[in-house]
Amino acid sequence: MTHSYRNNMTKSTKSIRQRVYLKKQLLLLALLAALILFITGCTLNSEDNGEEENDDTGEVENEEENGKEEESGEAENDDDEEAPAEPQTLAEELGIEKINRTMYPLLTISYRADATHEAEVLGEILKKDPLEATGIVANGWIRVETDNTEAYIHQAFLSEEEIETVTWGSGEMEEEMILIPNPKEIDAIVNKELALAPDFHPDDLVQPDVIWAEVSNFRYMRAEAAEALEDLFDHASEEGLTLLGRTGYRSYEAQENIFINFVNNHGYEEARTFSAKPGQSEHQTGLAMDITADSVDGGLSGDFGSTEEGQWVEENAHLHGYIIRYPRDKEEITGYIYEPWHIRYVGVDLATELYETGLTMEEYFGRIQ
Ligand SMILES: [Zn+2]
Repeated sequence: MTHSYRNNMTKSTKSIRQRVYLKKQLLLLALLAALILFITGCTLNSEDNGEEENDDTGEVENEEENGKEEESGEAENDDDEEAPAEPQTLAEELGIEKINRTMYPLLTISYRADATHEAEVLGEILKKDPLEATGIVANGWIRVETDNTEAYIHQAFLSEEEIETVTWGSGEMEEEMILIPNPKEIDAIVNKELALAPDFHPDDLVQPDVIWAEVSNFRYMRAEAAEALEDLFDHASEEGLTLLGRTGYRSYEAQENIFINFVNNHGYEEARTFSAKPGQSEHQTGLAMDITADSVDGGLSGDFGSTEEGQWVEENAHLHGYIIRYPRDKEEITGYIYEPWHIRYVGVDLATELYETGLTMEEYFGRIQ
């Protein structure tokens, strides 16, 4: 009994040992399989990482990606597809043509970290102080070298020649005016800081073939702007609206007479809010036109902005290269009250940008911080 018991015991001990052995083997196999899966997983992950690093040049973003990976592999793969590919500067994206020349700021102006009004302001450069221009970006921003840093200023505020000035007026009206070097460019900025020379006359003035308000006297514009004005008025007429032209090109001398007349009637400070000094009027560029409609009796008043014609112009002028140059709520920036009647030709591309961003030329070119 004892024997058989022993035998039995031995048998059962044996079979238990065999089972344990088998279990150990299975466990080892399982561990091995797990190890293989783990290694494969790691290899795949590191391949993913390799791809990410090739796509992204920013180190910070890679660190973020790797962090997410540890938390959840799948979610991270989805993120990868949506992640912005190339954190370049706008200047690099648009392309920079290298140049090497001295340029002069037309006014004291901020320089920025990238070729856009949205870029961080790095510092300020004083007007007339020469600086080294090292590149031109396709959107008209100039790369400059200042304080050993690369920065950007829009070409609207730079001159390749030394700055010229002219002094106008006497007493409280006396002012040294900075003359712009590019009065013929369709995106030239003329405002209370930047003026046209007394002898600047556009040489391609024509009379646009449009309907004129009764009291209209200055009926000329530069050829390109005149053609675009005809298109704008035709477009309005197709929509059943009749626009009237009223005041286009005015010479320096004509502007001088008008301004002095306003000063005599309203005083200098008030006159400045709605009329330009000679040289500072956009009408002298030949690219501006005051327009009106019968609904405001052919007049130039803020009411035009709330008429059907005025609202149509606000929404459609850019399609023909025109902007409302002095929009509402931008008086601090443009220096003028809201003038829904004063439209300025800048070309379709810029007009569309300004319409879509809601910015004035001063803001878009980075004058305002
Ligand atoms: Zn005007």
